[in-house]
Amino acid sequence: MGKIMIVGCGGVGSVAVHKCCQNSDAFSEVVIASRTLSKCDALKKKLEGTTKTKITTAQVDADDTAVLTELIRREKPDVLLNLALPYQDLLIMEACLAAGVHYIDTANYEPEDTAKFEYKWQWEYRERFEKAGLTALLGCGFDPGVTGVFSAYALKHYFDEINYIDILDCNAGDNGYPFATNFNPEINIREVSANGSYWEDGHWVETKPMEIKRTYDFPEIGKKDMYLLHHEEIESLAVNIPGIKRIRFFMTFSESYLTHLKCLEDVGMTSIEPVMYGGQEIIPLQFLKTLLPDPASLGPRTKGKTNIGCIFVGKKNGKEKKLYIYNTCDHQECYKEVGSQAVAYTTGVPAMIGAMLVMNGTWRRPGVFNVEEFDPDPFMDALNKWGLPWKISENPKLVD
Ligand code: NDP
Repeated sequence: MGKIMIVGCGGVGSVAVHKCCQNSDAFSEVVIASRTLSKCDALKKKLEGTTKTKITTAQVDADDTAVLTELIRREKPDVLLNLALPYQDLLIMEACLAAGVHYIDTANYEPEDTAKFEYKWQWEYRERFEKAGLTALLGCGFDPGVTGVFSAYALKHYFDEINYIDILDCNAGDNGYPFATNFNPEINIREVSANGSYWEDGHWVETKPMEIKRTYDFPEIGKKDMYLLHHEEIESLAVNIPGIKRIRFFMTFSESYLTHLKCLEDVGMTSIEPVMYGGQEIIPLQFLKTLLPDPASLGPRTKGKTNIGCIFVGKKNGKEKKLYIYNTCDHQECYKEVGSQAVAYTTGVPAMIGAMLVMNGTWRRPGVFNVEEFDPDPFMDALNKWGLPWKISENPKLVD
C-alpha cells in the first residue's frame, strides 16, 4: 500500500489515475497534480465513490522545480509518476532528488526548442539517483515501455541471443476526423516529422522522414502500410540487449494523415521556430495544436484496434528462432472502461504497473534504468491482469 503523485492530467494521466484507483490494494492514495486544476478536480469528482483509493488534487507548474519540490515534500508520496510533457522530465527528476522520491516517466527528455529526443540527458542522472538511494524508471509506457519488457522477456525465456528486433506500432482506429493526433499533437508531430533512423551493426542509420515504407498483415487487424521512424527505445535496447545487430521501429499511418501532414509541413505549420504574428511571437506548431482536436476528446469517436508488438529473430541452442509478442487493444472497450481511447490506455496502464513495481520494491534499485534492465516476469503478469493481455506467435511473418 502506498501513495503516488501523478504529475500531468491529460489523456495518459487520466488513464493512469483510473487504473491506480482500480488497484486500491497497491495505491491507497493518489495525488493528481497538474497545470490546470479544474481537470484534476473533474477527474477526482468522476472517480470518488467508485474506489477505496483516496484522491487529492493540486495545481502545479512543473517548470518551477522549487514549487514542485515543496509540493512533493508536503504530500510525501512514495513514488512520482511524470505524465506531463517530455520537456519537464529533467526538472521533475531534480524535484524528486531534492524531495527524496522515486521517479517514473513514459517519454524521454526533449528540449522544447530542439526536436531531438535522447536518453543522454536522463542517463547523466545515474550517479545522483544512486547516491540518493532512489530509482528512476524511464520510458514506462507502451513504446517505449512494454516493447522493452517484451524484449527482456523474449531474451529470458526464448533466446540465447537476439540479433534483430522490429517494433511494429499499428493503430487501426478511425476517429472520423481527416487529421487528428492520438496523443499530444505537438509531441506527436515533432516525432513523425523528424528524420527516421535505425540501429545497425553498432551505429545509427539515418533516413528521410517516411522514406522507408512496408506493408504488414497485423493479427486481428489486417494489412496496413507502416513507416520507419526514429524511436527512443531503440537507443536503450541497443545498449541493453547483448548480441543485437539491428533494431527498427515502424508505425502505421493512413493516407489522409500523411497527406495532411505533408501539406502542413510545406506551409510551415509544423515548425518550432518562432514567427511574429500580430506583433506577438508565436510558434507555428503550438498554434496548430490549438486548432486540432484535443486527443482527450477522441475517446467516444474512435473505433477499431491497436496492435503493438515486437518481432524477434535470434538463436536458441544454435538454431535460428523467430518470435512475435504483441498486444491488441480495442478503442471502444477502453472508452467503456476508463473514458479514453486505446493510445492513452496502452500508455497509462504500463505507467501504473511500473509505478506499482517501483513502489512495492519489486523493481527498485538505486540509479536510473530503462524497463528492460529489470526482471520482465512480474510486469508481464501484471499486463495480463490490468487490461493489456499479450500473445505470442512462434512463427511470424518477418518484415522485409
Ligand atoms: P496531454 O497533452 O494530453 O497531457 C499532458 C498533461 O500535462 C496536461 O494535463 C498538461 O496540463 C500537463 N502539463 C503540461 N505542462 C505542464 C507543466 N509545466 N506542469 C504541470 N503540468 C503540465 O499529453 P498525453 O497525456 O497525451 O501524454 C503525456 C505523456 O505521455 C507525454 O510525455 C507523451 O510523450 C507520453 N506518451 C508516451 C507514450 C508511450 O507509449 N511511451 C505514448 C503516448 C504518450 P494542461 O491540462 O494544463 O495542458
